[in-house]
Amino acid sequence: MAFVLKSLILGLALNTVAQGDAPQGGWDIIVVGAGPAGIIVADRMSEAGKKTLLIEGGGPSYGITGGTDAPDWLKGEQNVSRVDVPGLYKSIFADQGKLTCQNETNAFGGCTIGGSSAINAGLFFQPPASDYDLYHAEGWKYKDVKPSIDKVYAKVPNTDIYSEDKKLYLQSGYDAARKWLVDGANYTNVNINDQANNKEKVFGRPIFDYDNGQRGGPATTYLQDALKRNNFKLVINTRVKRIDRTGGLANGVTATVNSTDVTYKLNPNGRVILSGGALQSPQLLMFSGIGDPAIRSNLTAGGMLKDVTQPWINNTAVGDGLFDNPNTFIEFEGSTIESYVYNYTDPIEADAKLWLDSRSGPYSFASETSSFWDIIKHSDGSQTGVQGTIDSAGFGTYTSNQTITLNIYGTSGLKSRGKVVFNEKFQPGASPETYYSDPRDADDIATFIFSIFQKLDASLLKPLNIPLNSTKNEIRDYITSSTDYTRGQVNHWSSSCRIGSCVDVNAQVVGTNNIHVVDGSIVEPLTVNPQFGIMIAAERASELILKLNEPPCED
Ligand SMILES: Cc1cc2nc3c(=O)[nH]c(=O)nc-3n(C[C@H](O)[C@H](O)[C@H](O)COP(=O)(O)OP(=O)(O)OC[C@H]3O[C@@H](n4cnc5c(N)ncnc54)[C@H](O)[C@@H]3O)c2cc1C
Repeated sequence: MAFVLKSLILGLALNTVAQGDAPQGGWDIIVVGAGPAGIIVADRMSEAGKKTLLIEGGGPSYGITGGTDAPDWLKGEQNVSRVDVPGLYKSIFADQGKLTCQNETNAFGGCTIGGSSAINAGLFFQPPASDYDLYHAEGWKYKDVKPSIDKVYAKVPNTDIYSEDKKLYLQSGYDAARKWLVDGANYTNVNINDQANNKEKVFGRPIFDYDNGQRGGPATTYLQDALKRNNFKLVINTRVKRIDRTGGLANGVTATVNSTDVTYKLNPNGRVILSGGALQSPQLLMFSGIGDPAIRSNLTAGGMLKDVTQPWINNTAVGDGLFDNPNTFIEFEGSTIESYVYNYTDPIEADAKLWLDSRSGPYSFASETSSFWDIIKHSDGSQTGVQGTIDSAGFGTYTSNQTITLNIYGTSGLKSRGKVVFNEKFQPGASPETYYSDPRDADDIATFIFSIFQKLDASLLKPLNIPLNSTKNEIRDYITSSTDYTRGQVNHWSSSCRIGSCVDVNAQVVGTNNIHVVDGSIVEPLTVNPQFGIMIAAERASELILKLNEPPCED
């Protein structure tokens, strides 16, 4: 059964449509995927008066979207699901419910209203200006995207004081890290987004996109605005299988609803915007006969192109350049540390009560107590961003009640690039070159870990899975080896359909007339966790796409 969401009653109305029953008439804009980017672009298109359809393959998530999945201790709450409780973030790794893409991708992510923003930690960091000026194409430099950054701030509440009682919780890890990095290693203590452009030896409290002690983000803000408009519709549990096109001109899309095909048609001058994320948008292009000709015979043999009647459109950059942060968990033990482990079904009673009564306490955030960055500079003038984030508990076999985990990422400027590749079920995932295929990347991350280890007093925090006195080469060998603590996928997918090669400056797919990609695919590797940057990209792309149908200026 497909659900159509079209107006708000008590913040939500779910209008059910019979199986295969498509909304009448054509659409000016069809957006595929209700992740952060798809929600924003659909909101902006409908705000500009375009008749806009947003199609999401997954189902409800937040309570306000109709989500009801919740542990017993939440059952008395109105319009609250597990998604709304920041402190239930990590439970997604043990019990994915119907929120993730486990049947759709060969990777971890959210396939539900909000996409991965409905299951992520909510870390909300503004990318530094250098991410745009150094790595993005003309038209996407910092001066170009600055208005988009302001638009995101204007819509989405965010805070580093997440608990509604304004107290800070689980601070033993923060205190130890601050002593180590600020007092010992000369990092500057900053408000991370107030000084977003400074990513050299900075330390601070994480900023989250929470609102009133609950998960916020695009689904509770932009989407709610869009749902108030008569020219906007959201259909869920509806998976687009291909773009219908004549040559490079899309006429609509074909989707599957409970194994039945449904066609949604575009109006003349209409546009299809793919916002399925950096794995699934390239997949959908390829399933529509647009991509690297080298993949074509494999898709044909698998029957994936049997309904594509139009000639293949060559675009070798579709799916190419895929990025994810290479990450390493470093486990620490310290006599001052008090670990905190979140519990889905049986939280500590007082902590559950704090959240239920006043949206306060440990369950008002996802477990990260501090983040820090540095820049590794190279002799050729290039640079690599490196990031650390400290969690409230240990991991793997290091889970005494005095352990915490430091998650180290390599970020912007890394040189390794992968590709979106298919497994035997034709689900998209990452090729092995995505991580550490360029040896400079491992060297940079090892340099970072070595530099902070040099400033660490083992009586404050003792690393457990890698010795404090390791050489840089030993650290490099460790982080590139396969263990439970190294080479894991962070699932910060981006850069698989880059501006200037896969899409043009207007995010229009090269070789097509009216097909766009607007999501993590068009964003270059960022210095920070990607959601904020993807939202900026969606704002910027919306402006550019809306200008495409305007008559040219006379002056
Ligand atoms: C566990 C986890 C934790 C994370 N933590 C953070 C964090 O704290 N901070 C941060 O900044 N980033 C974080 N991220 C990354 C961040 O959530 C993503 O980068 C971001 O959500 C990507 O946005 P997107 O719009 O590109 O696509 P997505 O969020 O992937 O959304 C795409 C949507 O499109 C839908 N879709 C795809 N294909 C189709 C189709 N063919 N038909 C219909 N619908 C389709 C999917 O179901 C999905 O809902 C995290 C990610 C994960 C997985």
